[in-house]
Amino acid sequence: MAGYTPGEQPRDDGIIKLNTNENPYPPSPRALAAMAELLEGDRLRKYPDPLGTVFRQTAGRVLGVDPNCILIGNGSDDVLTILTRAFVPQDGLIVSPTPSYMLYKTLADIQGARLQTVPFTDDWSLPEPWPLTQAHLTFVANPNSPTGTLVPFTRLEALANELQGPLVIDEAYVDFASAHALGLARLPNVIVTRSLSKSYSLAGLRFGFAVASADLVRELIKVKDSYNCDALSLAGAAAAIADQEYFRAARNKIIATRERLTTGLSELGFAVLPSHANFVWARRADRLVKTIYEELKKRKILVRYMNYPGHGDGLRVSVGSDPQIDRLLEEMRALI
Ligand SMILES: *Cc1c(COP(=O)(O)O)cnc(C)c1O
Repeated sequence: MAGYTPGEQPRDDGIIKLNTNENPYPPSPRALAAMAELLEGDRLRKYPDPLGTVFRQTAGRVLGVDPNCILIGNGSDDVLTILTRAFVPQDGLIVSPTPSYMLYKTLADIQGARLQTVPFTDDWSLPEPWPLTQAHLTFVANPNSPTGTLVPFTRLEALANELQGPLVIDEAYVDFASAHALGLARLPNVIVTRSLSKSYSLAGLRFGFAVASADLVRELIKVKDSYNCDALSLAGAAAAIADQEYFRAARNKIIATRERLTTGLSELGFAVLPSHANFVWARRADRLVKTIYEELKKRKILVRYMNYPGHGDGLRVSVGSDPQIDRLLEEMRALI
């Protein structure tokens, strides 16, 4: 099998890194303090809480969900792995719209299962009726990557009802959107996944979670590694999600910069879809954009180049800080 290819993580600090949707702002000072405090005690000597009780209670309060409906993960990728392991037999079927998150294919390969994809409609929604309802697991990233587009709640609700199996709504980017689907996690076949990597600036910590019915979560806990989240990440994640004031301020800055980036790239002749995430997907009708990616890289600006069969190529540009985006647009102007 071919493994998943993560975005480049260069060691050079001088690079403007806009390729893996990391947050340009630091994590909440309260999250950092909670982790520092833990390091001073003797907590690392002992195993962590396997259920992440403090995180579940805190996130439950912040999000308005029952803590028993929350499953903790070592990054939301771990949650996606747990779901695949729990629901998909060997030779089973996973379905996802395309173009979307490439990891779904890798998860299918690891499991010895097939991934079948369904193209988005021309307006980036899901075809109606959905053509493959008999999947063991259906993944829909919403907002989607690399497009940044958002499928309406009502369409997801209808899809959940059409499907015979579970629907995973991957909300890794939803904090940058104007709507979310947590309300659908009450349905018996819906699992909503979240990540602290992007909107909480904790990609290096590795923490994500799922929200689903308490019955489902109870079963999924049997499948996960007992100690899938370490004590440090549990402490940091609980403090980060409790600090909603800090979170909102950083998120609002990113949304404002995203709008400037969208306008700036459009003025340079890119076709940019309105984004609901912390990145934009920029394509051109007049040429392939690979050389632009390469030229930017020479100038120490890293964006993600992607080429999807049938959809052409494009640049996925993470929303950095305002000065980073100014530099990017300046270099782009010189290149085009
Ligand atoms: C980044 C990303 C994830 C993974 O997030 P982690 O919590 O860092 O594992 C999951 N799904 C999508 C669509 C992503 O882009």
